[in-house]
Amino acid sequence: MAFHLVEKDGLSWLESDILGVKHMFTRKLGEVGDFPYTSAPDPVWESEAVQQRVRALWLRLRQAGDFPAEGFCFTRQVHGTLVRPVTAGSRCLPPLAVRPPDCDGLVTCGRNVPLCIFTADCVPVLLADGPRGVVCAVHSGWKGTVGDMMGAAVAAMRSRGARVEDIRAAIGPAISRCCFETGPEVKEAVEALLGPDAQGLCPPEEGVEGKYMVDLKEANRRRLLQLGLAAEHIDVSEDCTMCQSDVYWSHRATKGRRGTQAAIIQLE
Ligand SMILES: [Zn+2]
Repeated sequence: MAFHLVEKDGLSWLESDILGVKHMFTRKLGEVGDFPYTSAPDPVWESEAVQQRVRALWLRLRQAGDFPAEGFCFTRQVHGTLVRPVTAGSRCLPPLAVRPPDCDGLVTCGRNVPLCIFTADCVPVLLADGPRGVVCAVHSGWKGTVGDMMGAAVAAMRSRGARVEDIRAAIGPAISRCCFETGPEVKEAVEALLGPDAQGLCPPEEGVEGKYMVDLKEANRRRLLQLGLAAEHIDVSEDCTMCQSDVYWSHRATKGRRGTQAAIIQLE
């Protein structure tokens, strides 16, 4: 299993060969994805001109990825663990008439219903049970991770017929252990979530009192193993959004002046 880079029509994204269904983890999306023209559509906080640039981005992505004319299902993310079910009727293209409901994950059994979540250091996770036709996309930053977003995602999929032994998961580019310096509250919460399986995940930062270097991608992978996924069904991107802030948006590297990556998954 591995991630590979796809470049098409001036856009670039990663795909994992583990999922077996259409998906993409975008990198920076060129001028239309730049701050303040962030790619996450929201009718409230941007001007008409920005909305049109965001729309142009989504039309390009739709074309490059061969997604449906009706558009995508979006979220307004709040660092929670709610996974919202959506259907074909939830698809739209920016500019949006209303804000998407607050949630940090989407799940569907619908065909041609692209699920979209956004990240810029937080961990994007795409999950699929291809044989039973269930897909899920979640945003799992440290709060989502320790709030058990992986448990919420797997439960949402199982309640729609997915079997844990057939769920495949791709954990995309995110801030990695090289860069994710935290205080003790993150370390303690990761240890509370994983118990003995947190071993080695949050080592003290060398030479810095009270700081820890946390591996959030690995924390999500280990939680998926606890939930019953097979190790050979979980792919983890090695890319660090902060180290590679030339090709990825990083909240920390930009001190918040940033766009976002999109992670998208769809049953065909
Ligand atoms: Zn790094």
